[in-house]
Amino acid sequence: MGKLPIRARVATTLGDAAGRVSRLTGRGDGSVIGGVVGLRVAPDLLRQLSAGRQIVMVTGTNGKTTTTRLVAAAVGSLGQEVATNAFGANMESGLVSALSSAPDAPYAVLEVDERYLPAMMRATRPKVVVLLNLSRDQMDRAAEIWLVAKRWRGAFAQQPDCGVVANADDPLIAWAASAAGHVTWVAAGQRWHEDSWCCPECGSHLRRDELGWRCGECGLSRPSARWVLDDGSVIDATGAVHELDLSLPGRANRSNAAMALAVASLFGASVDQALPQLRAVTSVAGRYTTVERRGRSLRLLLAKNPAGWLEAFDVLDPDRRPVLLAVNAQGPDGRDTSWLWDVDYRVLRDRPVLISGERRTDLAVRLEADEVPFGLADDIEAAVDLVLPGGLDVIANYTAFQQIRTALGRTT
Ligand SMILES: [Zn+2]
Repeated sequence: MGKLPIRARVATTLGDAAGRVSRLTGRGDGSVIGGVVGLRVAPDLLRQLSAGRQIVMVTGTNGKTTTTRLVAAAVGSLGQEVATNAFGANMESGLVSALSSAPDAPYAVLEVDERYLPAMMRATRPKVVVLLNLSRDQMDRAAEIWLVAKRWRGAFAQQPDCGVVANADDPLIAWAASAAGHVTWVAAGQRWHEDSWCCPECGSHLRRDELGWRCGECGLSRPSARWVLDDGSVIDATGAVHELDLSLPGRANRSNAAMALAVASLFGASVDQALPQLRAVTSVAGRYTTVERRGRSLRLLLAKNPAGWLEAFDVLDPDRRPVLLAVNAQGPDGRDTSWLWDVDYRVLRDRPVLISGERRTDLAVRLEADEVPFGLADDIEAAVDLVLPGGLDVIANYTAFQQIRTALGRTT
């Protein structure tokens, strides 16, 4: 901290104080307000706080918060402090708060909103950028995610020294990453194909086979990967196979872990060193947490967009455990619920389904169309009483998820 200019030092002190006040008054976890206050005093604060650190930025549509946590754990295996925005505050103020709360950390692992990546790269000069996936979010259209990828290309071209770790199985990600100077390709898989039928380079139809994807017109094709996720294992760049055996459930998290191990290797952390740290991660910002309620064991899953719902279904208990789906349409969720029609709900036919949330009527219509039987629950407490003692999986979109966590009294 001693090397920061005086104005930046004052700004971080004020910012940290504001963050503490925010936490003490119960207004939030303080991860944004501190940064907002600091930036008002010193607009150049992010650049100053980044100087001299080795920074990883993690971005993409889904899995940012979890992957950030996994990368921070993996880099942490080197034995030095890692600054990180663990609660998903992924715009400039969140990054400032994360860095100012760990002024002496030589490493920083930062989740970044996909739209802000170019600006955040300019301010922080990261060593590595991690590109997970790109698909429509609630509010985006396909043309907008293509524009995001195009802007990333511009940012990579301006920082040829920045390393990129990218998922080779996502065509839009691969196209964006191919503009970077150094790319570590990871075959991390892609379940959601609906937003990548077209070649990002020329617009022609992409073909898919067991080798991956390929454009018949311009020749753009899946890059060959140095790291491969193979079901429950990761094959590293030397060809060694490592059983992942994570505590976090589901294919999407195995994919996130493969990316994290590839990042860690760029910092000199071996798989044997980093993997135990990944296995120790059991929940991320309240996700995957299990909460006991009147003899029911509730597992909380967040799903914000069609690709996220597909991933959440993948995590559902195979033992036909009941599931509660909760959907809202407030600002952070997107007001329009037409995305519900992009999700295939038929996998839920074999288990008891309850629905709640402010937009449960929209969800009801959608489930009717897929011939999925369901019951209505007023809220999480009602849902608990409607299922037999045992397990209940809960899948909710953003604000519905926060409401449920609050109702259950969860602050972590
Ligand atoms: Zn093409």
